[in-house]
Amino acid sequence: MKMTEEHRKLLFGLYPPKSFANGKFHKISAFSNVGVIETSEGLVLFDISSKLNGPRVFKALREITDKPIKYIIYSHGHFDHCFGYLPFLEEIKGKGWEMPQVVAHENLIDRFEKYRMLDEYLNWLHDQQFGSVLGKNKQYNSAQETLNPTILLRGNENYNFKLGEYTFELYHDKGETDDQIWMFVPEEKVLLTGDFIISVFPNIGNPYKVQRYPKDWARALEKMIEKEPEYLIPGQGPLIESKEKIKEILSITAEVLNFVHDEVVKRLNQGKWFEQIYYEMLEIFPEKFNHEILAQVYGCYRFAIHAVYRLYHGWYDTGNPTDLFPAKKSEIANEFLKICDVEKYYIRAKKLFAEGRLQLALHILDVIINATEKISSEILINAYKLKIKILQQKEENEPSFIASNIYLNEVNKLKLKIINFK
Ligand SMILES: [Zn+2]
Repeated sequence: MKMTEEHRKLLFGLYPPKSFANGKFHKISAFSNVGVIETSEGLVLFDISSKLNGPRVFKALREITDKPIKYIIYSHGHFDHCFGYLPFLEEIKGKGWEMPQVVAHENLIDRFEKYRMLDEYLNWLHDQQFGSVLGKNKQYNSAQETLNPTILLRGNENYNFKLGEYTFELYHDKGETDDQIWMFVPEEKVLLTGDFIISVFPNIGNPYKVQRYPKDWARALEKMIEKEPEYLIPGQGPLIESKEKIKEILSITAEVLNFVHDEVVKRLNQGKWFEQIYYEMLEIFPEKFNHEILAQVYGCYRFAIHAVYRLYHGWYDTGNPTDLFPAKKSEIANEFLKICDVEKYYIRAKKLFAEGRLQLALHILDVIINATEKISSEILINAYKLKIKILQQKEENEPSFIASNIYLNEVNKLKLKIINFK
């Protein structure tokens, strides 16, 4: 299923604020969701959005309530969840209010440190993942300044506190990250999941991102089911209000994570290499996972297979020693062109394209594109043009926004190459 307008709204948080449970709970969306709980003694915020969207969240919050913030809870250290604090700090200073407590898991400290170490790299990476859609935005990612936690959950410990009429139960489980916290407010049975639930297929096995934790993720969701929540604020997407629907969403998400995990593990134990596991897994995808909450418009099943394999396996993934220390792709391409004329590759790629065998056509075209030996500029430009066409066609049929972006980035790069040729 290709991304719909509803998915776009969901992924970019294009929703008006939503209040529920006696008007004391609010969900504010700006890319990711911010959960707000109004108590008689002040506000509890679950996440505080990104640097880019913080002002939008602040404005929306202050249209709802003017109470001071007493607690900020970080669901995890990702950029769209804890970097939007600036307008909130300005308000606190301006009004002379006390600083709120900021609660996080201890692993978040290391995460912020890692972000500082990798500042430029992460900017580059986010431009890769989102650049063709969101544009390039340098300040989007910097962790040089952060609002640091004042209360840390250590190891697997939980943390409970009371403010006004509500109890706040905080639990740590690994999932999308190793520093995740989810929250339950028992008085109104409200569950705030952070990115454990993002209203589409879990973002696991993202081609750009570090390891994520499918089995722990599924266990966390199973723990959430035991709470019998009646409201669910996900990391992204609309508020979910029916008890049955929430149970269904948590269950099917746990189920798909368990499925991918266990099926890859089974095949690892059978001594299979990645290619075999991957293609076998594509054949056995159960129909029931074609569920709206598992729409593969961001993360996808194909990525999830990688996630599990990588969790338990090193980088040597073919079982063929040729691939252990491979020659440069350009040298290999040069050798192929010595065996067979460049035009034959182009003609073959065109034929494969005409037959709709797009992926194979790409591999053949790459022999021409990767080669560093002198090739006529006419053939090279034709190869670029054909690759653009193929990538565009793949993009049109690609549900995953992340994969789509990878195709589009390359299209843009190739178009530039053609311009520079003239
Ligand atoms: Zn996240």
